[in-house]
Amino acid sequence: MTNKPWNLRQCVKKYSDAGIKGISIWRNVLEGQDPGEANRLLDDSPLEVVSLVRGGFFPSVEKKKRLGAIEDNLLAISQAYAFGAPLIVLVCGSDSRQSLEKSREQIKEGIIKILPEAISAGVKLAIEPLHPMYSADRSAVNTLAQANTMAEEINSEFVGVAVDVYHLWWDGNLQKEIERCGRNDKLFAFHVCDWNVPTVDFLNDRGLMGDGCINIPEIRNWVEETGFDGFNEVEIFSEKFWAMDQNDYLEKIKNAYLNFT
Ligand code: ZN
Repeated sequence: MTNKPWNLRQCVKKYSDAGIKGISIWRNVLEGQDPGEANRLLDDSPLEVVSLVRGGFFPSVEKKKRLGAIEDNLLAISQAYAFGAPLIVLVCGSDSRQSLEKSREQIKEGIIKILPEAISAGVKLAIEPLHPMYSADRSAVNTLAQANTMAEEINSEFVGVAVDVYHLWWDGNLQKEIERCGRNDKLFAFHVCDWNVPTVDFLNDRGLMGDGCINIPEIRNWVEETGFDGFNEVEIFSEKFWAMDQNDYLEKIKNAYLNFT
């Protein structure tokens, strides 16, 4: 998604050439793509598939929609299995027609429902807390504390948390909650980008590391102090960067990663 204008084949080629070691695949990229061909593409490349993005969107006041979400998440698990992705990132969802507590309850129920399939496929699930500005529509899980609590309550080695600096940098309890997450062996993924000042679009104006106000090296340090040795995943949604030459943009990403992460 970071290089949205590129298709999977281009991403695999360009990332491999650039010395990037892994890729997380958004499911929309797989639409219209022959699964066998996509699989071969990844198998033949040096890239490790880090995760499949995204599952989730569990809550709704409408039962039919909640059931539909379960179906979609089961499909995501089978896709992750097919592509050898060890993890699905969950953007958990929210329905503004009910309380956030109710939405969180339905998220937890949803995860528990799909968990047996995830376990039998060997695919882990990461609850990604989103910035509170998304609490009405994208996720009722908005702090790392809430994600940690939910993962602890579900209490499965297959359910953990994705820590994304964009969503969590503002939280005064972040260091403490990262430690808690690590202590529980629940820190499954780490995403980086930056918070532009001012931010002109709350979805598609994420900054390149070093361009905004997040102290990324400090947060990375907290994450690594827990023993986390997974990928540092650059995840930038940006109309500005999608509009530029993607080769030049990839070069910028590499520099920003090496100097400001
Ligand atoms: Zn993320």
